Amino acid sequence: MRRAYGRLPWRRGAVLGSVLLVLATTPAAPTATGGGGPGPAQSVILLIGDGMGDAEITAARNYSVGAAGRLAMDTLESEGRRTTFSVDERGRPVYVTDSAAGATAWATGRRTVNGRVSKTHDTDRPMPTLLELARDRGYATGSVTTASVADATPAALTAHVTDRSCKGPADMAACPADTRAGGGAGSIAEQTVAARPDVLLGGGAGHFAQTVTDGPFRGRTVLEQARAAGYQVVRDRAQLAAARPGRPVLGLFAPDYVPVEWTGAPAARGGTTPQRCAVHNPARPAGTPDLAESTRAALELLTARAGRPGAPGRGFFLQVEGASIDDRAHEADPCGQLGETVAFDRAVASALAYAERHPRTLVIVTADHGHATQVLPDDARPAGLSSTLVTDEGGRMRLGYGTALPGEPQEHTGVPVPVAARGPLAHRVRGVQENTSLFGTVRAALGLR
Ligand code: MG
Ligand code: ZN
Repeated sequence: MRRAYGRLPWRRGAVLGSVLLVLATTPAAPTATGGGGPGPAQSVILLIGDGMGDAEITAARNYSVGAAGRLAMDTLESEGRRTTFSVDERGRPVYVTDSAAGATAWATGRRTVNGRVSKTHDTDRPMPTLLELARDRGYATGSVTTASVADATPAALTAHVTDRSCKGPADMAACPADTRAGGGAGSIAEQTVAARPDVLLGGGAGHFAQTVTDGPFRGRTVLEQARAAGYQVVRDRAQLAAARPGRPVLGLFAPDYVPVEWTGAPAARGGTTPQRCAVHNPARPAGTPDLAESTRAALELLTARAGRPGAPGRGFFLQVEGASIDDRAHEADPCGQLGETVAFDRAVASALAYAERHPRTLVIVTADHGHATQVLPDDARPAGLSSTLVTDEGGRMRLGYGTALPGEPQEHTGVPVPVAARGPLAHRVRGVQENTSLFGTVRAALGLR
């Protein structure tokens, strides 16, 4: 294993660490099916709608394909629900998670405190992640998001920090133990480059433009660190299309969040006049790839990386995040939220199309937590904010946001979220699952233990 972990606080974790150390030095023989890994799946695509609970999915379904229609994410054969709660420092349940603790749950198989990224809830120690385990077992790895690639959900795969705010070297106020000067591994952006996933696509150019303050890259930017690690850096759709799989790819398509797809009037007290969403956001540069395009590019690059000469002949692990479903729901911006959910669903469709051609691909679609959205009767008189949307099928849909005072950001909710899967081990998502169980499902699918 490339990273030296501190003493893990749980016996099981310590045993796992030593087992993986052995496995990492013992290459498995290629299977008879040709090029497969040691698990039932060759590759895993994990798609996360941030803040995409059942109400957010229902709103997007109603708006875009109609109440009786089906989104791509509705068509996977196995379905269940995942709990979403996190814990406090003493391990007691906290009923509403944030995205850092939510992603840590599947990335590491352990719950942590809200705000923390893949470190323990009590002793604040790093925990190995699915991406690290897959990488160390010879799989190609990738992460695609519409947020900064240093944001909490992608970070949970590639970094270990006390607080999610520690995105770049200039953002380390909340993470004294993680600073290089303090003996830590640095900011999320620095750790993400060091984790060296084969494909990393999203926003966050601003975090990579920051200057590293300590360690071997002191005085250089994180982007220079990435180039030194062999990354080819792409900034738009054309450059992404021109990227070749010989070297890892870092796509930075925006300074922070990638601008959203749709715009419209925000929800308001007493509601809005019935509105249709504008499906082109003028603030979105023309060359910006959408999430489905980035997902398809990542799948192509990862397939080639996994099969390149000298590679162990295995598949890949890819996480795809629709990040701004959450961001727009915080702002009670129904059109922004719906557009991001529909864009996420197109990424799901791209993943399912890939799995059709590569049947040993496990596709999992889920969320990290629910959000504030409620689908209300059109004549409701909610105390909070609301907006009426005219759907594609001509209906009127009233969406309410009532989890905060007007002017303040809306809150996450503590509901279980849907989880759907297709492919090897898809049955393991059925029923009510712990939010940590996806870790074991992906690990078993790729034979990571
Ligand atoms: Mg997120
Ligand atoms: Zn959120």
